[in-house]
Amino acid sequence: MKCTVCRGPAIIDIRRHNAKFCSEHFLKLCRDQVAKAIKEFSLLEAGDRVLVAVSGGKDSLGLWDLLLDLGYQADGLYLGLGIGDYSDSSGEYTRAFASSRGLNLIEIDIPDDYGFDIPNGAKAARRVPCSACGLSKRHLFDKAAIDGNYDAVATGHNLDDEAAVLFGNVLHWHEEYLGRQHPLLPARNGFPKKVKPLVRLGEREMAAYCLLRGIDYIVEECPMADGNRHLRYKAVLNELELTTPGAKADFFFGFLARGADHFAVAAGEDTLRFCDRCGAPSSGEICAFCRLTERATASTQSANSAQSTPVTFVGRDRHVSQ
Ligand code: SF4
Ligand code: ZN
Ligand code: ZN
Repeated sequence: MKCTVCRGPAIIDIRRHNAKFCSEHFLKLCRDQVAKAIKEFSLLEAGDRVLVAVSGGKDSLGLWDLLLDLGYQADGLYLGLGIGDYSDSSGEYTRAFASSRGLNLIEIDIPDDYGFDIPNGAKAARRVPCSACGLSKRHLFDKAAIDGNYDAVATGHNLDDEAAVLFGNVLHWHEEYLGRQHPLLPARNGFPKKVKPLVRLGEREMAAYCLLRGIDYIVEECPMADGNRHLRYKAVLNELELTTPGAKADFFFGFLARGADHFAVAAGEDTLRFCDRCGAPSSGEICAFCRLTERATASTQSANSAQSTPVTFVGRDRHVSQ
């Protein structure tokens, strides 16, 4: 197998590009694809200060590395979610990456800072864990970016993630979500700009990128992801990609080119009111994160008061990733 660019020994075959690459040209391809996505979708300006949401996984650590390589000022933001051993381990991978490169890593620990962990908080609020987790992440990423005066929050959603989310949104015709499905969500009404610079790279490519760059990342999936419907959508699309290389890219980029504008109106206008408790943009008097915190901590306190001896909050010393 020979590199399509230099004819040297190739280490990876990317069927949707109908090309093979040696390590040097594969790394160049990854950088070029990120630069292309940034330019094509106007994600970032030169010199932007970017806050990268990092979880210890291949996508977010790879993204941080790529943005630095492309010359952006990029700090990391790690959220401790309190999901047991998985959390401990993902925090360790993130800290090791940041310290080995002398990078600035901001850490927020939900159990320590807000008094609940995601599994118990979700139960108390009668939400599925990924829903409580997603709303907490959105709220805390936004807050950290606004407080730190960052130009954008960057997340490590790759092509496989975006195609699977699109598949689910089309399957159920979630018009409002379709209206927001874009690599760029501009800053608006108190929300920071949000960007997804990895949309032109797949999961396999990000794993290979990390391997070649010596980035050690957590391989285990979050235990809460079990039964997650996006994993099923990914499996369906992987099957399709086997026989039709490029199907995911055609589906996702075809939607952006030909469908996204149609649904943009369905996303509706953002409300201009702000949460009475925390000041975050909100659709009601109290934002969803403050409501979640209230219910989750009330349930923790009543569980604690039912015990005969004082107990510290469960999961207090744990760290977790997204
Ligand atoms: Fe959060 Fe992802 Fe785990 Fe769901 S699978 S709880 S969204 S980290
Ligand atoms: Zn080559
Ligand atoms: Zn609030």
